[in-house]
Amino acid sequence: METKSKTNIFFIYNFLLLLSSLNTATYLFLLPTNSVTANLSIFVNIFRLYISVLFLPCMKEFKLNILPLNKWLDFSDRPLIISGPCSAESRDQLVNTAKALAETGIVKIFRAGLWKPRTRPDSFEGVGIRGFEWLKEMKALTGMLTAVEVANPEHIEQCIKHEIDILWIGARTTVNPFSIQEIAEALKGTDMPVMVKNPVNPDIRLWLGALERINNAGICKLIAIHRGFYAYDSKPYRNAPIWDIPIELMRLCPELPLICDPSHISGNLQLLESVSQKALDLEMQGLMIETHINPSKALSDNKQQLTPKGFSELISKLVIRNNFSDNAEFKTKLEELRSQIDTNDAEMLRLLSKRMKIVEQIGNYKKDNNITILQIKRWNNIIKESLIFGNKLGLDKEFLIKLLRVIHEESIKKQTEIFKK
Ligand code: PEP
Ligand code: MN
Repeated sequence: METKSKTNIFFIYNFLLLLSSLNTATYLFLLPTNSVTANLSIFVNIFRLYISVLFLPCMKEFKLNILPLNKWLDFSDRPLIISGPCSAESRDQLVNTAKALAETGIVKIFRAGLWKPRTRPDSFEGVGIRGFEWLKEMKALTGMLTAVEVANPEHIEQCIKHEIDILWIGARTTVNPFSIQEIAEALKGTDMPVMVKNPVNPDIRLWLGALERINNAGICKLIAIHRGFYAYDSKPYRNAPIWDIPIELMRLCPELPLICDPSHISGNLQLLESVSQKALDLEMQGLMIETHINPSKALSDNKQQLTPKGFSELISKLVIRNNFSDNAEFKTKLEELRSQIDTNDAEMLRLLSKRMKIVEQIGNYKKDNNITILQIKRWNNIIKESLIFGNKLGLDKEFLIKLLRVIHEESIKKQTEIFKK
């Protein structure tokens, strides 16, 4: 009943939103303004605001119902470590990798792909259901939990039948809401824990959408996995980490456990340590790292898999930091520094606002004199001069370019609005 009334409200809200935008478009571009359209526009906008404020709690779209990690996983020591080969290849490869990993004493969950989503059709596509027997044997030997990638209802059925502990959804599946919905339907009525990798493309809404669909199917044992994103030029990474996206996910769903997959971000062994450390320093709760008893012979992802020994060395190099401290002196000092930051931020915003007012003045001046918004020479000069000055102040070049671009974009937007009037 409650859901129905929320749906109705959303419907009315969206209808008004559509009405309002159509009306605004009419108002701005299509029809000569008359008092009826203008009044309707004002009315609709006031109503929109009213609805948004009134139903803010149900507008908060990304509320997931999550069972905390320690309620379903015997897990006290941070971080949660998942490891194992990219693919199960043979009984010996799987069992020997697992035995060596178990000796390190740090791996809670053993991963192995049985069905491999490969880009080219002639690549190794996994051993399929043959692998279940090997996973069963390895679990009996080592006590590690098992995790397998699923991409369709048939995979889920097989995993449940063979008592796999945890499922994960791969990046190539998360992109497709049809597949995710089918998976969600197949999960209904089960209590399977599910890990959802980010989609291949850097779209947080697809990731959230997948998590929501799985959650709506009644799955509360959820983990998100950050494995990086496809980018045309992702160098030096195989998949660009774009850390802002997992950080935004944490902000939107603080209750959702988030772990990192440094293997698929790095694509090689050299970057694994820095990516893993960064993930832990960003408060991610664990790592999924690919390992193989003989990586150079691996049938998939052979450049990024560590030997169990290499894996253990990597983990021992990582610094595990706390996300809080009880030390009073530390807290006072931190607060003092943070208040300095806040003062600086306020000053920066004041300056930006001042800048934008001048931008508006210039916009009007250009319009009156029939001069284009952009003068590429001037923009080039700003970049050049600011880079020299910023460099002297110790600011990073890439950061400066990004910052200048955002400010410039906003200035152009402002002047475009003035030109339209
Ligand atoms: C994997 O974990 O082996 C895998 C296929 O990962 P992704 O979905 O991140 O590419
Ligand atoms: Mn892999």
